[in-house]
Amino acid sequence: MRTWNFYTSRQIKPQGWLRDQLILQAKGLCGNLDKVWPDVRDSAWVGGDREGWERVPYWLDGFIPLAYLLEDEDMIARAKRYVDKILENQQEDGWICPCDEESRPTYDTWAVQLIAKVLTVWYECSGDERVPDALYRVLKNYYKLLSDGTVSLFTWGKSRWYETCVAIRFVYERNPEEWLLDLVRILREQGTDFDQYLHIFKTPYEYTPTQESHVVNIAMQLKSEAVSHDFLQEDYRDVAENRYRILMENNGMPVGTFTGDEHLAGLSPVQGTELCGVVELMYSFEHLYACTGDPKWAERLELVAFNALPATISDDMWTHQYDQQSNQICCSEFRANPIWRTNRRDSGMFGLEPNYGCCTADHGQGWPKLAISAFMHRDGEIINALPIPSTLDCDKAKINLSTEYPFRSIFTYEIEAKQDFTLRIRIPSFAKDLKVNGANKRTKEIVLKLKAGDKKSIFVEYSIQPRLESRPHNLKTVRYGSLVFALPIAYDAVKKEYVSNGVERKYPYCDYEYRPTSDWNYGYAANTFTAEERERTEIPFSSQNPPLVLKAKVKKIDWGHHPHYTSVCAVTPNSRKALSAEETVELYPYGCAKLRMTELPLLKK
Ligand SMILES: [Zn+2]
Repeated sequence: MRTWNFYTSRQIKPQGWLRDQLILQAKGLCGNLDKVWPDVRDSAWVGGDREGWERVPYWLDGFIPLAYLLEDEDMIARAKRYVDKILENQQEDGWICPCDEESRPTYDTWAVQLIAKVLTVWYECSGDERVPDALYRVLKNYYKLLSDGTVSLFTWGKSRWYETCVAIRFVYERNPEEWLLDLVRILREQGTDFDQYLHIFKTPYEYTPTQESHVVNIAMQLKSEAVSHDFLQEDYRDVAENRYRILMENNGMPVGTFTGDEHLAGLSPVQGTELCGVVELMYSFEHLYACTGDPKWAERLELVAFNALPATISDDMWTHQYDQQSNQICCSEFRANPIWRTNRRDSGMFGLEPNYGCCTADHGQGWPKLAISAFMHRDGEIINALPIPSTLDCDKAKINLSTEYPFRSIFTYEIEAKQDFTLRIRIPSFAKDLKVNGANKRTKEIVLKLKAGDKKSIFVEYSIQPRLESRPHNLKTVRYGSLVFALPIAYDAVKKEYVSNGVERKYPYCDYEYRPTSDWNYGYAANTFTAEERERTEIPFSSQNPPLVLKAKVKKIDWGHHPHYTSVCAVTPNSRKALSAEETVELYPYGCAKLRMTELPLLKK
């Protein structure tokens, strides 16, 4: 079952701020990783001597759609060189990873699952006719090796078995053969059933960190039922809802993610969450929405995409953190034991590969896959799933959506129908005073029937009210539609250039510490906020010029530091008694505020 089908980068093109964001990504680390990073430049996937497992496929998973969404010929040619080499190196028996035959039993086949998915991405972008046959042979070989026991699932492949289903679906649609269904059954049988580990989601600190408490695995597994249940001929039960609810009740962050640094870490606003977990959670939500059509998944996707993703990557998209905190007063290297559960001292810094290089390779899929999810389709119908500025040009219609959403809530759709079809426009639950072409409407979905040859403009607007949301520890966070707002902290960026393990950190792909230069010890003095629109620059989530701010009334309090740390604030303030007169400050979108306080107390009058 799939309620909605994805389009591809051949039909959807980003516009407005989203295009600017993708251009930043193309000019930044993801768009240049094959030039500056040995693990991609000299990878064993392309005949080099560096990492030959997840890093090249991770990078291609974002770089390929980025290249095609921007129609950038140079990037497309660079992606093709990698794919050409990977396809050339496929063995006679179908095996495709850079690992010799004797080593296959000990090679974690997560890489097989991942490269298979990436080849579907390449096909959907390029239409490369070598892919269907190559993928058929990859999966047939994987099936044979799993069936005869030559390989089995362990560690990452065991936790991520369902990722293979994207490629299995691709092959099954072209060759509906029984062994593919059997392959899904074997993967599920050998793979992890996360419903057996909900006790870890509830009280993560009572358990030693394992694969089942790993934040990236957990972000990925939310889609396991959505991508596999129809192959298994099972009814869809929405197991993701129960898992996500438990995760959020016990580890939730205000931006729709759960803590994991890099294992689930409870509800403290100073524990972090990993960038790979952010982009994989987005990808899971995209599949959950496509599978179910349930708007809750689209709203959750927006919350992560518009907040957690931009927050943890620098304005120029050259550097990123491994772990982001919701109350983040400093991004520096810990001198002694870090606050993180298992991550290293440098995980909060912005850099080339703080802690570990997975996020360096994987982060690029976030924005491009979001862009491709703007519109989805099924028989005779198109839905605008995400109201982000983009153009759809498909068999049924050409639709252009102009908007500055999520910073504004005004939308103009220009539609030229090529066939008869129904257009659906999802309206979020927080929209108030909805108007369609000037007329008041009360609906969660605008439905329009169009006839071939129709040309229509639709003007949609609604209002959004800023509001306080309750958080654990009797703290509050400010929501404005899909944006979370935070008190920004001014900072000095301290550049660090060096070489470590043969990997160069050199501007613009160097490391940075962000050290605070303004006060952060505040509580909200009132629960009213006033939105003020600003000009949007070519950096949509600019840390210097946010396109929207909220004016808030605050007072200073004695907050204090976390015991033994000068770079981490206490989980809750020492005192909630006002120490100063009321001041009016500007809150920034969480995604713009690199140092920030997101969870604050509401002070008594
Ligand atoms: Zn990572």
